Amino acid sequence: MENSNFIKTIMKEDLESGKHSEIITRFPPEPNGYLHIGHAKSIVINFGLAEEFNGTANLRFDDTNPLKEDQEYVDSMKEDISWLGYEWDNLFFASNYFDEMYERAVLLIKKEKAYVDDLTAEEIREYRGTLTEGGKESPFRNRSVEENLDLFERMKNGEFENGSKVLRAKIDMSSPNINLRDPVLYRVSHTSHHNTGDKWCIYPMYDFAHPIEDAIENVTHSLCTTEFEDHRPLYNWVIKECEMNSQPQQIEFGRLNVTNTVMSKRKIKPFVDENVVDGWDDPRLPTISGFRRRGFTPEAIREFVHATGVSKGSGAVDEQMLEHFVREDLKLKAPRTMGVLRPLKVVITNYPEGQVEMLDADINPENPDMGTRQIPFSREIYIEQEDFMENPPKKYFRLFPGNEVRLKHAYFIKCEDVIKDDEGNVIELHCTYDQETKSGSGFTGRKVKGTLHWVDASQAIPAEFRLYEPLIRDEDESNSEKSILERVNENSLQVLDGFIEPNMKDVSPQDKFQFFRHGYFNVDPKHTTDERIVFNRIVSLKSSFKLK
Ligand code: ATP
Ligand code: MG
Repeated sequence: MENSNFIKTIMKEDLESGKHSEIITRFPPEPNGYLHIGHAKSIVINFGLAEEFNGTANLRFDDTNPLKEDQEYVDSMKEDISWLGYEWDNLFFASNYFDEMYERAVLLIKKEKAYVDDLTAEEIREYRGTLTEGGKESPFRNRSVEENLDLFERMKNGEFENGSKVLRAKIDMSSPNINLRDPVLYRVSHTSHHNTGDKWCIYPMYDFAHPIEDAIENVTHSLCTTEFEDHRPLYNWVIKECEMNSQPQQIEFGRLNVTNTVMSKRKIKPFVDENVVDGWDDPRLPTISGFRRRGFTPEAIREFVHATGVSKGSGAVDEQMLEHFVREDLKLKAPRTMGVLRPLKVVITNYPEGQVEMLDADINPENPDMGTRQIPFSREIYIEQEDFMENPPKKYFRLFPGNEVRLKHAYFIKCEDVIKDDEGNVIELHCTYDQETKSGSGFTGRKVKGTLHWVDASQAIPAEFRLYEPLIRDEDESNSEKSILERVNENSLQVLDGFIEPNMKDVSPQDKFQFFRHGYFNVDPKHTTDERIVFNRIVSLKSSFKLK
């Protein structure tokens, strides 16, 4: 991160004072879903700071809850982090520390700092008290060390049912901090684990496992989001009472939220499971894989995250800010092209039948080094349905009967005739062109106000265009009686059959283009086949042109 921030300041001081000789951070996702843009923030911070201080950044899968975790998620997370442009120094799995965690738990029991409790989950919740009221001690709290050791071992050996016993820390049931009211450290769960198989039927809780994982790895600064601020005393308690060799410092920063989206693996999963979206990489989701498939670049995402800064606050960032950064990144990189999303045929009646001419067009006027392309022009072309109105309002500068417009890279055409079907729908226009007005010829005879994009009908390639709107709109929140799945914006995906320039026949998945007047598009890697090219709109242009 280029700018200074409070975490960087702490790290710098710790190096200068000699508290640490090296900065070690980790990004610790739980593999229970796909990474989202919020995680990108944590990745940029953890990897970025380690890089800046020439330190070490590890990727650690916090895989302590086998019920929700899966190898697919592990693989996708690795892919996404690499795609964002970061390399981890070490790859760790929390599950590799299960033996050591168990030993540390036994140590706590021996020190009378932990006990096996038979209360049910519900009773534990009741006994815990509230923010204003202290908790109540469990009747099992004062079991002897011997009894606790015996019961904990039998928990491990599989003698007890799920939920029948837990191991709890013995801290303080009257603490004003609820997290310190004898938190659960281990639970029984007869579940196979993606890494350890059936070796374990007890699994550690996050608050117990996480500090141990950090300490084992000698993490110096354990960065997390502010909702863990109240857990910090417990984090420090575990490090101290488990007699860990190193003492990582937990530092919290504000989480990234973006408007008009759902930002949590847990909340995104139902959309995927219920097939409301097209997988975890649906271009409407705020997942890294969704952004990638939509056509966002790693550069744009990193720049966006940098721009949101590092602080304790966590207001929602406008989604438009993300769009700004992808436009900025693609401006000079993406070739320009023309595509018609809702075709209307135009016959140029005075253009010779059978004749085709090739026109020169720059690939990117803002980046002339990209060269030029050739586009065919002939008697029949497609224009956008929205670019014609039979009875236009004032200040409509596109095509209407009798009006003349410019075809980008080609000629002026004038609308002479409107052809309709039996129901009165416009199905074709008859126009004339003026040979004198050829683009690049220096023609100055007269001016027209509208410039339309078009494709040659005889050679155009059919293509599918997918236009997106937010999946969920924040302003619908008032609709509280609806479940989140029912709040899906029904216009969030619009699929159109259109045409593209013939020179695009060899595009590859993930190629990005700027379609004149329509915005930036990405070749969809999932649905594009040899027969059919599918484009995802990444963002529209900032221009006033908006396809409804
Ligand atoms: P989710 O609700 O999506 O599962 P999580 O915080 O439970 O989020 P983890 O897999 O535990 O997901 O997250 C890995 C790391 O990413 C954690 O350190 C977490 O604090 C961080 N992180 C998650 N969401 C955000 C966010 N919106 N902004 C910044 N950091 C985040
Ligand atoms: Mg989580």
